[in-house]
Amino acid sequence: MKRKIAILFVSVLLLFTACQSQESETGDNSTDEANTSTDVVTEATMAYTDDENFDVPADVVRSESTVIDDSNKTGRLITSQESYQIGTYIKISIYDDYQAPDKFFDEIFYTIDNYEKMISKNIVTSEVDKINEMAGVEPVAVSDDLWELIQYGLEYSEISGGKFDITIGPLVDLWGIGTDEAHIPTSDEIQEAMSLIDYHNVVLDETNQTVYLTHEDMKLDLGAIAKGYIADAIKAVILNRGFDAAIINLGGNVLTVGTKPNSDSWAVGVRDPNGGQSDIVGILNLKDNSIVSSGVYERFFIEDNVRYHHILNPYTGYPEQNDLAAISIISEKSVDGDGLSTSLFVMGLEDGFAYAQSRDDIEVMFITYDNKIYYTDGLEDKFILTNTLYDNVGALE
Ligand code: ADP
Ligand code: MG
Repeated sequence: MKRKIAILFVSVLLLFTACQSQESETGDNSTDEANTSTDVVTEATMAYTDDENFDVPADVVRSESTVIDDSNKTGRLITSQESYQIGTYIKISIYDDYQAPDKFFDEIFYTIDNYEKMISKNIVTSEVDKINEMAGVEPVAVSDDLWELIQYGLEYSEISGGKFDITIGPLVDLWGIGTDEAHIPTSDEIQEAMSLIDYHNVVLDETNQTVYLTHEDMKLDLGAIAKGYIADAIKAVILNRGFDAAIINLGGNVLTVGTKPNSDSWAVGVRDPNGGQSDIVGILNLKDNSIVSSGVYERFFIEDNVRYHHILNPYTGYPEQNDLAAISIISEKSVDGDGLSTSLFVMGLEDGFAYAQSRDDIEVMFITYDNKIYYTDGLEDKFILTNTLYDNVGALE
C-alpha cells in the first residue's frame, strides 16, 4: 500500500510543471524552473517558537521545499511543498520576501492529517466512522469542526433537494469508484443502498453536539465537501502566520490567498475535461477566491464504452449522466465551492445555472460534452478562452 502511494507521489511530482501552469501564469514555467534553488535566502522565523512542534506522521508522503526566485515578476520568493494526503495531491505555494520555514509546512500537513483522521469514513478511529458504526444505535458526540462541516453538508443537501446528500455513503461504498474494487453493482444492491440514503435521517442534538443516524447501515460520506473545508482551514493557518499571498491546491480545488504581488490577480487554468492533467480550456483571473472544479474525468472506470464516474445521483443510484463534463465554482470559501460543485453537477445545466444566478456571492462555469462553455455574468471579464476546440458561450439564455 505504502509503495503504491509512493509511486503515485512520484508520478504527481512529475506533474509538477503541469500543475504550476494551472495555478500561476501559464507559459512562464520554464523560467520559474530555471531559477529553482533551495538556498536563496535565510529562513524567516515567522513567529514560530521552539516549543511549537507539529508532528507530521512518518507515513505522510511529502516533498522538501522548492524555492523559486520570482523577483523579476512578483518581487517575491515562492516557497512550495507538496504532499499526498486525503487521497489527493496537495501543493502549497507561499509568496513572501523570505523562504517559508519547514515548520510552517509541518503545521499545514499536520492540520490536514488531523482533519483526515476526523472526517474520513474509511479510517476506523475517525469521528465519522464512529457515527457510522453507531447508526441505529446511539448518538455520537462530535468536535466543533465536524459539527460545522455537517451543517454545511446538510445545507447543500437541502439546497439541492437531496441530489447532494451526505448520507450517500452506502452507495459510494457499493460502487467503489476510485478503488480497486470499482464495479457495476446489481440493481438489487443499488436499491438497497438507495433505501439507506436520506439526509433527513441525520438527527442533530445541539445541546450535546451529537449526531445520530436513525437507521442501521446508514453512512455519512463528507467526501464531496471535505477538501473545500480543509482548504479554508489551511488558508486560515497561512493568514494567521502573517503571509499575504499564497496558492493552495488540493487536487483541483484551488484557493488563492490575497492578490498576486505586482499584479491584479492570480491566473488559474481551468482544466480541459477532455484533455490530460495539464490541458486547460482557458484562464480565470481571480483574487482571494476559491475555484473548485469537479468533472467526469476525475475518478471513473469505463465498461462497455460507458464512463462510470464518482458523482452519483442518489435518486437513480448511478453516476450522474447529463450534458455536463465539468463544472467550476468560484466562491469566497472553498467549502461552498466544493458543496456546490457536486450539488450543481447533479442538478444539471439548467437548474444548476438558474440556482447560480440566484446567488450573487458565487460564479459558476459549466462545460458540456459538446464543448460549450457557459458561465455566469460575473466571469465575463475574468475568463479568457485559450482552447479553440471550445465554444465560449457565456450565460445560458
Ligand atoms: P472530488 O472530491 O473528486 O474533487 P467532489 O467534490 O465532486 O469531487 O466529490 C466527490 C465525492 O463526493 C465522491 O467521491 C463521493 O465520496 C461523494 N459524492 C458522490 N456523489 C455525491 C452526492 N450526490 N452527494 C454527496 N456526496 C457525493
Ligand atoms: Mg464537491
